[in-house]
This record gives sequence, C-alpha cells and structure tokens, in this order.
Amino acid sequence: MGDPEPGAESSAQLPWYRETAGECAFFEAAWQQGLPLLLKGPTGCGKTRFVAHMAARLGRPLFTVACHDDLTAADLTGRYLLSGGDTQWVDGPLTRAVREGGICYLDEVVEARKDVTVVLHPLTDDRRVLPLERTGEILQAPPEFMLVVSYNPGYQHVLKSLKPSTRQRFAALSFDFPPPEVETEIVAAESGLSKDLCAGLINLARRIRELKGKDLEEGVSTRLLVYCASLVAGGMAMETAARATLIQPLSDDGDVIAALEELLSHSF
Ligand code: ADP
Repeated sequence: MGDPEPGAESSAQLPWYRETAGECAFFEAAWQQGLPLLLKGPTGCGKTRFVAHMAARLGRPLFTVACHDDLTAADLTGRYLLSGGDTQWVDGPLTRAVREGGICYLDEVVEARKDVTVVLHPLTDDRRVLPLERTGEILQAPPEFMLVVSYNPGYQHVLKSLKPSTRQRFAALSFDFPPPEVETEIVAAESGLSKDLCAGLINLARRIRELKGKDLEEGVSTRLLVYCASLVAGGMAMETAARATLIQPLSDDGDVIAALEELLSHSF
C-alpha cells in the first residue's frame, strides 16, 4: 500500500472566520466571476482560515497545497505512477480541483519552482484551461473552479517574488493583523480564554509588532496568540505561556530575546 491519497478537505462544517473588511463578499463575487484571487499578508493572520471558510460557505471542495522550493508543476497536475506492473495516471490537487469544480489554494506560491507558473497562466486568463501534457488532455475549468494563491510580501527577496506577468492575472486582497478589539475576539473564541486576559496578550503583541523591521523580521502572529491563550486556558501561567509562544519562536538572537523579555516583564 502506498501513501494515502491526499484528498479534498471536507467542506461539510463551516470553519469559523471573523470577517474584518467585507472580504467574504469580495471572495464570493470573484468566485462568481471566475476570477483567480491573490491573498497577500503576514503568516498566521487568517488567510488559510478565510479560504477554508469560503470554500465551505460556497459548498466547494478545497484542495490546499503548502508550496515549497521543491514543488514542481507535476506535483500539482499529476503523474504516472507504477501500480502492479502497470503505469496509471494519478491526478494532482490542481487537476482534481479543476475536474471537480473545487477551490485550489496554493499557500506561499512564490516558494514553488518556476515551472508552476507555466501551468497557472492558461488557468488564470479567460481561457481557464489546464493542459495536461502527459495525458494529452486539455481540461476546461468549470465555472465553480477557483484558484487562490497566497504570499507573504514581508519575506520576499528579489529572486523570489511574483513576476508582474503572473501577479497581474489575479484580483488581490491585502491581509493584516486585525484591529485589537477584533483580534481579542478571535483569540478568545479560538482559545476559550476570557476576553479580559486575551486583551492583555493582544496589547503585548502590539508592542512586539512595533519591533518589526527593526529587530524582528516578522511580528507575532494571531496563530501564536491563539497558542498562548490556549495554554493559559489549559492552566499554564501567563508568563510561561507567553515566553514559549510569543518570544522564543520569534528570534534566536540573545539581545532580541532580552528586549522581548523586557516587554513581557511590564505586561502582566
Ligand atoms: P495564515 O494562513 O495567514 O498563515 P491562518 O489562517 O492559519 O493564517 O490563521 C492562524 C490562526 O489564527 C487560525 O487557525 C485561527 O485560529 C486564527 N485566526 C486568524 N484570523 C482569524 C479570523 N479572522 N477568524 C478566525 N480565526 C482567525
């Protein structure tokens, strides 16, 4: 037996998503018009949850791919695999999304190999086709199919950014960490910790985020705040949880850690 086949994520349950700026209606309009969507924003600010929520809301199967620097076009489209002495074509997640009228979400798309953009181009203009060179098929995407990609502009280097010829094929939405009162609501809902205690954490996060671009490459994410609040809700002391989730994951530099510890010592 080989590895279990990666399938579509269930869209039966609606993952909770707190909207901040009309992004749900925008997504739905883009889906109805057959437009591909680019989500820009820092890691852990809600992009993946947003796509999962919208896929479930629209009743479409979701195929999520975390892109990395070894990811090739064949990983998305499919390949011939040996099966009992025979070779059999196996669809990749992008091909399945096209065939099934699903939503394909390519997380951190700039990490993928260059040949990936070649398969995305004919899918992201008015042709909406996916040519499968190996099988000789040219798949016409049904109206329900949607391509969504995300990337984090904060991490981009000159060598790793989306080319204008690729990015100008997408409608784009910019994501950021939500305003404090909304982030408090999200962290409380996700962790079960009281809003009062969450508000203290968000206050600390805001001060840590002010260090972004100076001492820190990236500020603390909503995801890490949810980790911290969950540990506290489970009975851990606030300082211990904050140190392990809001300080240590951010840096390995002793001076930076000391500066973050200083912020923590004045917080609770
Ligand atoms: P990204 O894809 O931007 O890296 P995620 O979507 O994985 O980030 O978000 C990380 C976590 O933060 C989620 O699992 C969820 O707990 C929480 N989260 C962030 N924003 C929201 C939001 N608007 N509504 C609900 N949960 C959110």
